[in-house]
Amino acid sequence: MRFDESSRLDTSQIDDLRRGGGGGRGGGGRGGGLGGRVAVGGGGISIVALILFFIVSQLGGGTGALPPGLDGSGLGGVEEGQAADTSELAANCRTGADAARSLDCEAVAVINSLDAYWSDTFARAGVTYRPPRTNFFRGSVRTNGCGGATSDVGPFYCPADQEVYIDLTFYSELESRFGAEGGPFARSYVLAHEYGHHVQNLLGTSSRVRGNETGPTSGSVRLELQADCYAGVWGRNATQTPGPSGRPLITEITQADVDAALDTAARIGDDYIQSHLGGGRVDESQFSHGSSAQREKWFTTGFTTGEPARCDTFARGVDLG
Ligand SMILES: [Zn+2]
Repeated sequence: MRFDESSRLDTSQIDDLRRGGGGGRGGGGRGGGLGGRVAVGGGGISIVALILFFIVSQLGGGTGALPPGLDGSGLGGVEEGQAADTSELAANCRTGADAARSLDCEAVAVINSLDAYWSDTFARAGVTYRPPRTNFFRGSVRTNGCGGATSDVGPFYCPADQEVYIDLTFYSELESRFGAEGGPFARSYVLAHEYGHHVQNLLGTSSRVRGNETGPTSGSVRLELQADCYAGVWGRNATQTPGPSGRPLITEITQADVDAALDTAARIGDDYIQSHLGGGRVDESQFSHGSSAQREKWFTTGFTTGEPARCDTFARGVDLG
């Protein structure tokens, strides 16, 4: 994956919560008695929390519906008034060349491309697109609409405030803990998936799923697979999508890049997580995101067609894989 080195980057849709404000949140961001981390637990337990949180957040449930430890009550370490200061990010991430050398700036570039692609696609369909704000946090975050969360839940989208939340250290966790090969396009897939949830929220698709249903053909899985498909759609169109400078910010996506994204999709499939990071037993009835094969299939569907309309995982008789 390559960026146009001279293209401008735009940090105006990003809130960097990692620096400034928040008083005691400095340094590693994990100090200061983060009770939430303890409450959420580690290892397999946090994976369960991740799954639950995703379901609840997709349903736009109030904070009262969040599982224990994610409702903010256990987050003694999350400071009130976690203030965004994006000035350092803006100073560091000015061009595509910066995106090629820094993970922070790479995320900025991907966000710029995602906003440009979906803005244009919505406009062509006669629908207004509102870009989501994306929050970079470290350790824990108090969201505007979904209560508190720690990094254990992974990157997420909160429908209630229409914002994306990501601790960028998740990328190294994908490699160290999930065994993913990583790489820029694999990382982009993570953000593009969360943007897929924003698109669903704007289109009203999210509201088609009610209750915490799980299972390989559940509404939750259909939403997740559609978000994977939308991520693929963006990927297919990224090299034709003009960035802030009016020309494509991403100039090349190779087959190796696509393979790396599919590798990541496979590492975050429910069956892979259950067998490698959970209790070791695959229980389809608990699927919330789809199996590795399903996630690869739908990312591929999006990437090969480049058409959002081909991502209808809710269609009657659709083969979910
Ligand atoms: Zn998701």
